[in-house]
Amino acid sequence: MTADHAFAASNEARLAAIAGSGAVANSMTSAPDQYGVIGHPIAHSWSPFIHGLFARQTEQAMVYKRFDVPPAKFRRHVVHFFLHGGRGLNVTLPHKVAAAELANELTPRAERAGAVNTLMMQGENEIIGDNTDGEGLARDLQDNCGVAVSGMRILILGAGGAARGVLAPLLALLPSEIVIANRTAARASSLAREFAPLGNLIGCGFDSQLLSHFDLIINATSASTQGETPPITAALLHEGTVCYDMAYGREKTPFVRWAESNGCKRALQGWGMLVEQAAESFSIWRGIRPETAPVLQALIAS
Ligand code: NDP
Repeated sequence: MTADHAFAASNEARLAAIAGSGAVANSMTSAPDQYGVIGHPIAHSWSPFIHGLFARQTEQAMVYKRFDVPPAKFRRHVVHFFLHGGRGLNVTLPHKVAAAELANELTPRAERAGAVNTLMMQGENEIIGDNTDGEGLARDLQDNCGVAVSGMRILILGAGGAARGVLAPLLALLPSEIVIANRTAARASSLAREFAPLGNLIGCGFDSQLLSHFDLIINATSASTQGETPPITAALLHEGTVCYDMAYGREKTPFVRWAESNGCKRALQGWGMLVEQAAESFSIWRGIRPETAPVLQALIAS
């Protein structure tokens, strides 16, 4: 057995203790407190920049790093991080579902989302999983962008993890209806059935007759990241429609360009959601909510 294999084996044993009820003590407690974001790839992540500004603004002694970890090493890395005194992790693609499976306990919103973007230790032996994406979108829409969701007819494009994570927070804002349209229609229908007890929603494919005249359209597909837009038409829009792409970039995303060229009222991209979900994670970890407006400004200006 190599040293690496021995290390892995010993940590898998400790992971088993964490996953069960055994107590595991942190082997190191040192200031500043350790945080980070784990994903694959992760080089593009703005989270260290955002959390660095939050920490400076609220005078928290913490460091926040990027961890590029492939799926096969995810569990081992997370356990190692927490065993060595790490305090919290943000989790991004492709690990959000694996993080939900690894956590000992999920918050109700993470349980509903079936995905975790925030991990933290509770006591010395429990990893808690939370999901702040939905709260981030709701805050960005309502507080930053002044979009009053109550009574709106909403279209969500996509039925993946991000769509799932925002459904409950959006339904809590009392829209008149949410239609979920997805490339794989069965996935949209199944998501709609699952969340039906929380509000008025329906799932369909992109060719559905239901797809017209929405007040708010949220692109929760990953098409923008592939330089594409879903196969949608201008019939979705009316003169007051707000379009929101969860994806974000230095240039306008393909969905934002589509929305503007088809006459929407406003087209927004997901920078605000990114900052707001980070602020929610930060306040869970540190017990203090940072001001998001200056951080969003700095991010856009950087
Ligand atoms: P998933 O991989 O879980 O889901 C991807 C979704 O996109 C599926 O519904 C898939 O359809 C659909 N899709 C993929 N490619 C295409 C295409 N070419 N045309 C039409 N539909 C397509 O990803 P997530 O849900 O986790 O993420 C979705 C987006 O949201 C990403 O761009 C991500 O960056 C963004 N996001 C932004 C956040 C923020 O803070 N701003 C936070 C979280 C996510 P099918 O089911 O048919 O495969």
